[in-house]
Amino acid sequence: MPASAAPGSAPPGFQTMWRELAAVGRDAGSGGYRRYAWTPADTDCRAWFREQAAARGLDYETDRNGNQWAWLGDPAAGDAVVTGSHLDSVPDGGAFDGPLGVVSAFAAVDELRARGAVPGRPLAVVNFGDEEGARFGLACVGSRLTAGRIGAEDARRLRDADGVTLARAMERAGHDPDAIGADPERLARVGAFVELHVEQGRALDLGGHPVGVASAIWPHGRWRFDFRGQANHAGTTRLEDRHDPMLTYAGTVLAAREQARLAGALATFGKVAVEPGGVNAIASLVRGWLDSRAADEQTLAAVVAGIERAAREGGTRDGVAVEVVRESFTPEVEFAPVLRDRLAALLGTDAPVPVLPTGAGHDAGILADAVPTAMLFVRNPTGVSHSPAEFAAEDDCAAGVTALADVLEGLACR
Ligand SMILES: [Zn+2]
Repeated sequence: MPASAAPGSAPPGFQTMWRELAAVGRDAGSGGYRRYAWTPADTDCRAWFREQAAARGLDYETDRNGNQWAWLGDPAAGDAVVTGSHLDSVPDGGAFDGPLGVVSAFAAVDELRARGAVPGRPLAVVNFGDEEGARFGLACVGSRLTAGRIGAEDARRLRDADGVTLARAMERAGHDPDAIGADPERLARVGAFVELHVEQGRALDLGGHPVGVASAIWPHGRWRFDFRGQANHAGTTRLEDRHDPMLTYAGTVLAAREQARLAGALATFGKVAVEPGGVNAIASLVRGWLDSRAADEQTLAAVVAGIERAAREGGTRDGVAVEVVRESFTPEVEFAPVLRDRLAALLGTDAPVPVLPTGAGHDAGILADAVPTAMLFVRNPTGVSHSPAEFAAEDDCAAGVTALADVLEGLACR
């Protein structure tokens, strides 16, 4: 890790922080990031966070769940304004998802100081651990534990692809797994949490806005569709004698697209498993996983019901048995209306700032039940996320920092 700043000198600016972090956990082959929870790359990101806290004279602490905090003012005073995001990544993720929120948070603290704004409430920058869930398969473990949305015992038992438990991985990285669990005292000190994040879509770009405020996170879920037919020889079985589950599956994929299009929702089959999986064999089982999201729960239920109906009709036609299992469901998260409106008012003094929903989950969504929570989005002209193509222009990043500083000043300094 490069040293951030000599004692007494000015803390590193946005671009310097960005460059330092850009080198950590980057795969030379793909150009993407592999910053998985409790790995050496994650440890390096965490060391960087700690250096940034020190360079600004902020009080650093790691909470019981491994989330990192950098405090300006006394946390015990309560009603804190907290900002930040996460530093871990999906496999071969982009540079912006997560780190933009953390780097912007430190830069916004610098901006407040440059303005001479003095917070009347404690202020903190936070890095939530294991947001992407890339290693242990569950997203937002750091914030989920803190909010009591997963039990300590269940979390400790999570395993990565090599069979290493979360408890063991934490231990290896120097964190006590026995300490993890719900942290209501900590959350009770937080008066507002604002997460800045790169937009994972093109709404801001299409509207010509550098920054927007989040209204809500769409409800979303995952469903497993099992199509059971009959394995047989691809070269000798007459078409009319087949019970081919691949055919029913294919029709269901097309139906998902159509249902989503008609409802203004999203439906995606992105993962499929085929048995026996022979080129010259009709499949006996096709298992497909549906991810679907919509603006409200009623629409989502209608979309999934429509897809299931199409699957069953196809199954009857093809002589294939269809079973549908809901594997997970996350209800709609509406961000605190008062805080959201306050942000829109603080940022909309010259021209109205767009207020838009998102289909992606965030720590802010996990915490929204426990503390007043809001999000800012920064324009991503590619609209691509979870890939090295994810992008935000330098000017837009600067606009994000200014907006975040305006929000922190408005919430904490007046
Ligand atoms: Zn993220």
